[in-house]
Amino acid sequence: MNERDSEALACLLEKRGLTPASSEEDADVIILNTCSVRDQAERKAIGKAGLLKRRKAVKPELVIGIIGCMAQNRGESLLEALPHIDFIAGTDRLAAVPDLVEQAQAGQRLVDLARDTGPTPPEANGHQPGNICAMVSVMRGCDQFCSYCIVPYTRGREHSRSIPDIVAEATRLVEAGTKEILLLGQNITAYGLAEIRRRDKQRPPSDQSPFADLLEALNDVPGLARIRFTSPHVSFMNDRFIDAVCQLPKVCKAFHIPLQSGSDRILSMMRRSYTATEYRDRIAAIRSRLPEVAFSTDVIVGFPTETDEDFRQTRELMAEVAFDMAYIFRYSPRTGTKAAEKFPDDVPEEIKHERNQALLNDLEQAAIVRNRSFQGRVLEVLVEGVSKRNPDRWTGRCDLNKTCNFAPTPGLEPGMLAPFRVLRTSANSLFGEIVLP
Ligand code: SF4
Repeated sequence: MNERDSEALACLLEKRGLTPASSEEDADVIILNTCSVRDQAERKAIGKAGLLKRRKAVKPELVIGIIGCMAQNRGESLLEALPHIDFIAGTDRLAAVPDLVEQAQAGQRLVDLARDTGPTPPEANGHQPGNICAMVSVMRGCDQFCSYCIVPYTRGREHSRSIPDIVAEATRLVEAGTKEILLLGQNITAYGLAEIRRRDKQRPPSDQSPFADLLEALNDVPGLARIRFTSPHVSFMNDRFIDAVCQLPKVCKAFHIPLQSGSDRILSMMRRSYTATEYRDRIAAIRSRLPEVAFSTDVIVGFPTETDEDFRQTRELMAEVAFDMAYIFRYSPRTGTKAAEKFPDDVPEEIKHERNQALLNDLEQAAIVRNRSFQGRVLEVLVEGVSKRNPDRWTGRCDLNKTCNFAPTPGLEPGMLAPFRVLRTSANSLFGEIVLP
């Protein structure tokens, strides 16, 4: 989400006449886009902002701003703590940042945390040219209020863009060379539901899924090859949604579905509004409809009061689903959330660390075996271009979202869908060759 906001902000600033600096030393404007979801992310951002003091000392005309969740959350106090910072802008103020930069250049120090309850202004939906895979934000905010999560406080309530607006953006991207779009929303399966609730003054019927309607509309965009999305919420994955994701050919069959815990007691304390059985049921419903599918997830270990038995249930559920990938987080209380208010952070750090490590080990072993099963197969990859890790290699991803590494061959271009033969595998990637006819 933050990466997408940074891209949109870069477009806004370029429209205002700024150009990208070749390095931090050369920059006249530095904007830190911050995240508050984890304590570590906040500490890193504050550390970075502190380091910029030296840069400002040698270049007093340098403008430094802080935007994003941490800016929204801490507001004025950040300006007080960091006197070399020029402006703070909240999560709804992306479109206002170019003005804030100009006012800061004129010598003002500013805080703009205004809440914008309307749709995202169209000027805040710009893209850098030439992305084979582009991110498209379809909604902002979240109405779920999971007990550990700061997002509903920093990003506000749910607001979805209209289907025609999103389809128009996808069409423009395809015309500029994009082949794959990644749709973004904090709880993307709730796309459009808040608008229906506001309009009809009642809960939408449980069989409705405006997100499925959106996927159908995007599936019809000519030239678009693939659609991915993140993150769904199990409680909103009704049959209408499952029918759409299983049937639509352009929707990739790799789904990131946050689990958080396999223990019903912990899920209830987290206010996740589903049980482990419901999670299993939705996974089974997708799996039974598709010949091949990949699942990934998010899990929190060490949530307050988590016992060995709770953790065992999480580990068991994870083994059962056989996730291809998972992000494992050690619980850290976020000030302002219900969990931080109500539940002491009582699981010792070493236990969190052990549980984290146990899940990572399980995942690695499973991924080695799973990836080995691809050996010798030919998969269709979307060619993305030169690998960031090895300039001699190119990379792409298959429908199941596995990174595929190969040597470039004559005639191969980024953006092509090409057959890729798997020759070797690791826990994280597939290695092989493009087999052009
Ligand atoms: S659904 Fe996701 S973004 Fe929303 S409150 Fe829960 S964890 Fe946070």
